[in-house]
Amino acid sequence: MELDIKLPHHTPDTVKQKYHRLSTARRLQRLALYSLLALLAACDNSIITPPPEPDQPPEANTIKFVALGDTGTGSENQYAVANAIQQTCETQGCDFALLLGDNIYDIGVDGIDDPQLQSKFEAPYRNLNFPFYVVLGNHDYGTAGLVAEKGQHQVTYSDISDKWRMPHHYYQFTRANTAFFALDTNAQFWEVDEKQEQVVADWINQSTAPWKIAFGHHPYRSNGPHGNAGKYEGISGIPYISGDGVKDFAENVWCGKADLYLSGHDHSRQWLEPTCQGTQLIVSGAGAKTTDLKGDNAVLFQADTLGFVHITITGGQLNAQFINVNGDVEFTHTVNKPL
Ligand SMILES: [Zn+2]
Repeated sequence: MELDIKLPHHTPDTVKQKYHRLSTARRLQRLALYSLLALLAACDNSIITPPPEPDQPPEANTIKFVALGDTGTGSENQYAVANAIQQTCETQGCDFALLLGDNIYDIGVDGIDDPQLQSKFEAPYRNLNFPFYVVLGNHDYGTAGLVAEKGQHQVTYSDISDKWRMPHHYYQFTRANTAFFALDTNAQFWEVDEKQEQVVADWINQSTAPWKIAFGHHPYRSNGPHGNAGKYEGISGIPYISGDGVKDFAENVWCGKADLYLSGHDHSRQWLEPTCQGTQLIVSGAGAKTTDLKGDNAVLFQADTLGFVHITITGGQLNAQFINVNGDVEFTHTVNKPL
């Protein structure tokens, strides 16, 4: 028997075509996912922007932060990178961190009291006394990245953690002269959340901040095994594998409008040489694991070893340092813009 299970009216045609080839059971499973993500997307916009940090005056004209991803293992590697960050922050200063997704391997958490939030976040970073602005990765949404309520648990965890900040599954905040746009690339990957595209496009287009930085889990370009959006895993044209949704979101929303896009997902550190219409592309997904670099995108720097990125923005200058697990600065690059 074939049940007639309808997709939401705004579902893209490419998704509809694939959906109608699925069995009834798979359609039901997929519809449950769409319904949950639609519910998340319908949440009130007023909770999306967190209040400014009380200890960071908005008039300060320099910000310093670290960016790292793919951290949530609780392993020695995670602690080792945390120690290198501590060293760097003690000498150079850090106002906050961007945590770039896959925060809790392998399948996210079951609630805000899940002990993994302690063993894979709070304990490894216990000596880092600044806020972490967090985005969700595919592993944070369950086995196949499909369980919306698991992502919501990590959002809600912001209510009880001293350092975890994620007021919504996508959000914005401003520090000094820089606006940050935190993206849910998993929802982009599954092509289920048109509202995110509309809302974030409005934020970016309306922002008057001199610097604009977008960050999310999935890369636009990467030399790691996952590769470039639209051709993830070396496969083109299959909506739930190739990452067409991530590619389209980037090109529709932030390419050419943000100064920089930071991502993880591949477990390496890269500064890609081609920009996305002028937006610089950095991958920093080596916070606990490493994978090979086998792509052929040109790079300013790449390393398949553990580490993180430290960024300083002062006036019209953005300086990024790629730092390894020993705390050594391996590469430095500066971007200047007239203000
Ligand atoms: Zn990932």
